[in-house]
Amino acid sequence: MLKIFLCFIMLIMLCTGVEADFTLGTETLPPGGVAFLCWQGPETPHDLLQVTFSGAVQPLFRRDNRPCALVGVDLDQAPGLWPLTVESVAPSGTRHLVHLSLRIEGVERPAQKLTLPRQMVTPTETKIVKQIAKDRKRLDQVFKRRQPVHFSPPFLRPVDGEVISTFGLRRILNGIPKSPHNGVDFRGAAGTPIKAMARGEVALADDLYYTGKTVILDHGGGLFSLYAHLETLTVTPGEMVAPGKRIGTIGSTGRSTGPHLHMGTRLGKARIDPLALLALFADEKR
Ligand SMILES: [Zn+2]
Repeated sequence: MLKIFLCFIMLIMLCTGVEADFTLGTETLPPGGVAFLCWQGPETPHDLLQVTFSGAVQPLFRRDNRPCALVGVDLDQAPGLWPLTVESVAPSGTRHLVHLSLRIEGVERPAQKLTLPRQMVTPTETKIVKQIAKDRKRLDQVFKRRQPVHFSPPFLRPVDGEVISTFGLRRILNGIPKSPHNGVDFRGAAGTPIKAMARGEVALADDLYYTGKTVILDHGGGLFSLYAHLETLTVTPGEMVAPGKRIGTIGSTGRSTGPHLHMGTRLGKARIDPLALLALFADEKR
């Protein structure tokens, strides 16, 4: 009987969140989606200690002076209910652990067919294969970085050009199904300046096989923005850049069919939709 009673109490705590009033800004997200999880209670907020989604630690920051986490869903996250765990500490010093869940929607993504030079789709030359493996290792290292959070709203669109290819499109290159589009493409003439989305440290500014001249900014807490196919790079690794700082210019280097900006965003291992991230932070005040 006591067991049943305790279970009932636990359920109330989980369902109402009375013990730790953190609320997610949405009930469902698509793969690639992002949302804020913020303190909503009227009383003195708890401090967030750790938020994990599907086992991955999410960055913590303050919004309107309330403790928040930025929650991101990977492009390939399967539909269904996934665990979201919120660990916080009350002003009294009492720790709380609340288990929530987030529903991931199933999304039908359109396909994009492209014809590219064979070496860009199925490279066989040893030199190129080696370079691709080396690039992948470097990218893995970059995305493992965990700096303190540097970012604060608002986030800026890197160029004014319209979106010409959206996030998550299934890619069929030379008739071969490849990994889906992990970013967004903006229209722009070669030489158009590209602005940093938010404050961050330059984690990489180099020429890679697929993404050509590439800049990756580390915004802290595992949040990264990547800018690909650039004509010129105007920042150097280790440099801290302010939001809106010119980081390079639009080009068509690497695996590209013409001048455009490919922008990708990552939250830890999760590849998230840059447009969803920009929209989430767009109406935020500093
Ligand atoms: Zn792209």
